[in-house]
Amino acid sequence: MAKLNISDLDVKGKKVLVRVDFNVPIKNGVIGDDNRIVAALPTINYILDNGGSAILLSHLGRIKSDEDKKELSLKPVAARLGELLKKDVEFVPENEGSAVETAVKNLKPGEVVVLENTRFQDIDNDFGKRESKNDPKLGEYWAGLGDIFVNDAFGTAHRSHASNVGIATAMKAAGKPVASGFLIEKEIKFLGDAVSNPVHPFVTILGGAKVSDKIGVINNLIPKSDHILIGGGMAYTFLAAKGHKIGKSLFEEDKLELAKQLLAEAGDKLVLPVDSVAATEFSNDASHEVVGEDIPDNEMGLDIGPKSVELFKSILKDAKTVVWNGPMGCFEMPNYAEGTLEVGRTLADLTDATTIIGGGDSTAAAKQLGIAPKISHISTGGGASLEYLEGKELPGVACISDK
Ligand code: ADP
Ligand code: MG
Repeated sequence: MAKLNISDLDVKGKKVLVRVDFNVPIKNGVIGDDNRIVAALPTINYILDNGGSAILLSHLGRIKSDEDKKELSLKPVAARLGELLKKDVEFVPENEGSAVETAVKNLKPGEVVVLENTRFQDIDNDFGKRESKNDPKLGEYWAGLGDIFVNDAFGTAHRSHASNVGIATAMKAAGKPVASGFLIEKEIKFLGDAVSNPVHPFVTILGGAKVSDKIGVINNLIPKSDHILIGGGMAYTFLAAKGHKIGKSLFEEDKLELAKQLLAEAGDKLVLPVDSVAATEFSNDASHEVVGEDIPDNEMGLDIGPKSVELFKSILKDAKTVVWNGPMGCFEMPNYAEGTLEVGRTLADLTDATTIIGGGDSTAAAKQLGIAPKISHISTGGGASLEYLEGKELPGVACISDK
């Protein structure tokens, strides 16, 4: 069943409570990267342009002590939002109490208010982590502020917190609508629909450090994919399972049996690297060379090699849907970045396919390459996108009303 979206609702004259993801990096009051604020603009602008007003809630970092509150106020975020929207944005340094209620009461169509970091509710009270442990009373309180609730925070959709699931539950109980924003709608469209119902050939590319991090994704995507290309550190446990020597490469002994089982199950679908860039140390300056499927005893595989790149490219060229999670090597070090960059470039060139990138490090690699505009969808959620690719139902998505 499709989820209700903000565009399905008449927001004129309505106070729309929006859970956004403003969890941006901040140091000494200065925002390092405002991508997440920019990503929330379409939903906010839609509400304002259509005669509604917006009450914005977000978490920022983790609050464990009063000291954390100084560095983790949303005040600079509200200021940056004002610059981006080119209008005054009111900031209330609290998220509960009379100051909040007055600001909401005085809110006029076309106006925006940002409330303080929801996780300020995680300390100094009898409940404990009221936000992160979803105190139903807190969700109810916030729900009382708006006529409509919009969840647009995909980055926390894998968590059941007061500011997403709590509000949604209370809104529904009060007979008020709960809708997705444009950002979550896009995530559902790509990570959900495109992956569960892919246009074939469907190729999954998996990499990153560990098999153990990606087991859920492998299990979910093996039956759906036509090919699964494996690179990164996790490839070496699979190569070991095939009887190859892997030298000092990353190896998860407790996943060896699982790797053998997956290879037996998936057969030709699982494609492993046929060569590697292997180094004597885990360092960019270490002496390194291209080796075949076997890695010398004193070396470790830190990137897929040129033949593997060609093999992966030959499979990708016919793909109609591609999901990529996890770099092909230690791309943070320039000498071991080529495999990851080549895979990124290949995806950018697939103009006739739906291309989806999920995962924090893979996204960083895509940005480094400047290919983001050529990718159909780059997920904004690290943990949330992984859980989605595992086929799990995310509480922050499940709580949105059906159409
Ligand atoms: P993502 O965040 O995209 O899901 P992961 O967090 O799973 O990706 O993995 C990223 C990390 O994996 C990077 O820090 C990278 O250096 C590391 N990595 C990739 N290939 C190797 C390898 N061959 N050996 C050791 N670490 C690797
Ligand atoms: Mg990562």
